[in-house]
Amino acid sequence: MTFKEFGEVFENYDLVNNNTYKVHSICNYYIIVDDVIKLTNLINYLNNQNIKYFVIGNGSNIILPSIYDGVVIKLKFNSIEYLDNKVIVGSSYMLNKLAYETINNGLSGLEWASGIPGTIGASIYGNAGAYKDEISNYVEEIEVLENNKIKIIKKSDITFSYRNTSLRKRNLIILKATLILKQGNKEESLNLVKERLERRSATQPLDYPSAGSVFRNPEGLFAGKLIEDLNLKGKMVGDAKISEKHANFIINNGNATGEDIQKLIVLIMNEVKKEYQIDLILEQEIIK
Ligand SMILES: Cc1cc2nc3c(=O)[nH]c(=O)nc-3n(C[C@H](O)[C@H](O)[C@H](O)COP(=O)(O)OP(=O)(O)OC[C@H]3O[C@@H](n4cnc5c(N)ncnc54)[C@H](O)[C@@H]3O)c2cc1C
Repeated sequence: MTFKEFGEVFENYDLVNNNTYKVHSICNYYIIVDDVIKLTNLINYLNNQNIKYFVIGNGSNIILPSIYDGVVIKLKFNSIEYLDNKVIVGSSYMLNKLAYETINNGLSGLEWASGIPGTIGASIYGNAGAYKDEISNYVEEIEVLENNKIKIIKKSDITFSYRNTSLRKRNLIILKATLILKQGNKEESLNLVKERLERRSATQPLDYPSAGSVFRNPEGLFAGKLIEDLNLKGKMVGDAKISEKHANFIINNGNATGEDIQKLIVLIMNEVKKEYQIDLILEQEIIK
């Protein structure tokens, strides 16, 4: 099988530039798909042949293994359409880009998302959020491929919680999303974005490869504070390092592997459990 009929195909592909940790991860095939029918046919084929696969967004919330024995699907669904204060957007559209786009179109709502380097599809799938706001507040409906059929799922049929949704339990691929925003003031929105981005660069290690916050904050607490109080800042496994700037970030200090990152995560979880009897929950996803 060459997979060529489904999209642009790369064999024995290194995903190093497709994940924000910048770890090397060799997959059997990386396929860029820009058409829903082709995607349906591809999923059918992979299911029939029992071939492992996953859909990658911008790779900013995942920890990849050094070898992925399967197919990685990259969607190229970048359409964007405005209907008054609604925006209908393809799932591979970048959320941070969409924040600027909508602001420039006089719409307000996504200012909080300007520093999030993920696709809109994955951001809905995981309910991305920041500054007490989250994508669930703006979703009207999504178009998905579920059991290889195209369906519309209304917001009321999705359970959203902190960095999580009921979509994770369903084997589906988000194709498109309709978001409802409000009429805004471009200048005010851009000022808010500037403020948010300055706060991010003051507190987050943005000059190193990472995948954002590693753990969800336990109810009423901050994961970063718990880790910092254990004096774990700077701790390393291989080249995976707990950031000195923000203890809830793991950075790739050079040649970290996904396995190094996972080992460091286990180390943190064990220390936090031992000292505080708290089970930290991972915000990032380990791809197996
Ligand atoms: C510097 C930095 C700052 C960050 N700040 C924040 C923040 O403030 N708030 C926040 O919430 N997150 C933050 N993140 C994490 C990350 O950007 C978000 O979680 C983002 O939504 C992930 O999008 P992605 O496209 O990179 O997803 P990926 O990491 O590529 O994938 C994540 C999951 O989504 C699935 N997926 C991807 N596309 C689809 C699709 N179309 N349909 C169904 N499933 C799909 C994947 O299979 C995977 O399970 C940050 C990351 C970095 C590096």
